[in-house]
Amino acid sequence: VLGYEGRRVAVLGMGRSGLATALSLRAGGAIPVVWDDSTEGRAKAEELGYEVCDFTKAGGFDGIAALIVSPGIPHLYPDPNKVIAAAWAAGVPVDNDIGLFFRSLGSGDWVDFDTPPRVIAVTGSNGKSTTSALIHHILSENGTPCQLAGNIGRGVLDIEPPVDGEVIVLELSSYQTDLARALTPDVAVFTNLSPDHLDRHGGMGGYFAAKRRLFIEGGPDRCVIGVDEKEGRYLANQLVEGPEDSRLIRISVAEKLAGSGWNVFARKGFLSEYRKGKQVASLDLRDIAGLPGAHNHQNACAAFAATRALGLSPKTIEAAFHSFGGLPHRSQLVGEKDGVKFVNDSKATNVDSAQKALEAFSRIRWIAGGMGKDGGIAALAPALGSVVKAYLIGFSARDFALQLGDVPYEICETMEAAVALAAREAEAGEVVLLAPAAASFDQYPNFEKRGEHFAALVEALL
Ligand code: ADP
Repeated sequence: VLGYEGRRVAVLGMGRSGLATALSLRAGGAIPVVWDDSTEGRAKAEELGYEVCDFTKAGGFDGIAALIVSPGIPHLYPDPNKVIAAAWAAGVPVDNDIGLFFRSLGSGDWVDFDTPPRVIAVTGSNGKSTTSALIHHILSENGTPCQLAGNIGRGVLDIEPPVDGEVIVLELSSYQTDLARALTPDVAVFTNLSPDHLDRHGGMGGYFAAKRRLFIEGGPDRCVIGVDEKEGRYLANQLVEGPEDSRLIRISVAEKLAGSGWNVFARKGFLSEYRKGKQVASLDLRDIAGLPGAHNHQNACAAFAATRALGLSPKTIEAAFHSFGGLPHRSQLVGEKDGVKFVNDSKATNVDSAQKALEAFSRIRWIAGGMGKDGGIAALAPALGSVVKAYLIGFSARDFALQLGDVPYEICETMEAAVALAAREAEAGEVVLLAPAAASFDQYPNFEKRGEHFAALVEALL
């Protein structure tokens, strides 16, 4: 497979993805040779019987067929990675686990099927996990064998061998699409675009370029494209093939898309599907507990379009919407006391997602802060009208305070202090909302731990 049998293949990083990569390469008859910057990572590799090699030494890449990089490792920005730079200098192809997955899929391994497995890949700045989980849920409810993998669920090289007719739903971040040497899903989804991870991609241009690869290089049969930002519109126009038969399905929560082609949009709580200017389906999204807020209506449009592209009926999809439980840490109600709701949106790690969370409620005690991103919360100004008071935590608390305008605030530093004070001050009808608009790593290992901490503190109050 992949022409790596008997050949030495370098693996950089011994985290979850690197370990699965080394294991798959070995199972496929290749010889993994690994490196991890940490001594623990190298010790783990040796324990598992892998050869460890410092590829940055002279001739380190001699005889190496390819370098497979873990998605978490930045390659060019903010600082060039020495191992990856050495591979490039030596002319060794650089790939990642997603590239290996798609190449093995295209290599003839998966031919013994009546209906070969298909892949739906989801990318975008926000809504990827919700959309991927929703697609997976719709397919499961339909009785279609399916697995959820990539940036959510299992690592892509950890999935079970697919069965006949299976659909693999892959959530792909820009960290994964940027270096993958093959990206050939059957259906590809682009939810939306807003600034995020810019230091990793050298700016907005590199960030968009990383995501765009999924739609252009591999040529999916169907592309579902959110057209509410200029980048999405740009991408959609590149995919138009003609008025009758296009690979493109446009989605929007901002406008009625009733022109030529295949369109899905949500307005005022109703989702509509139009083909060639004619309405073919309409769904009421207003009372779906697992999909609150306009941003979730965008996710619903994306999941609807992707599963329609596989031939599912609007009725089946609608029924599955109603049984979707939502995902933890995304607008998740974790408690209610004396008429005050406590909502965990720890996943709001950037300004756009925090804005969506703020727009979903009207009287908010807002817990925000952490490791802020470029520009802080300046762009949130228009969404702050519903904030009664901000309770600021973490590294960026003071920076955020300067950008709050007239909104009252308290520097609380810790989650404990913020939850205690917000709970004490909140009045019936208000919402205590954790939507930090910042990464978590100044105080927590990840956003899940931050959300769990918030939920545990709320639980203790009830
Ligand atoms: P991702 O996997 O792209 O990070 P998630 O589904 O995990 O997306 O949601 C991330 C954050 O963005 C959460 O705070 C969530 O409430 C918010 N969000 C979810 N869907 C959207 C959307 N379509 N547009 C903007 N924000 C969204």
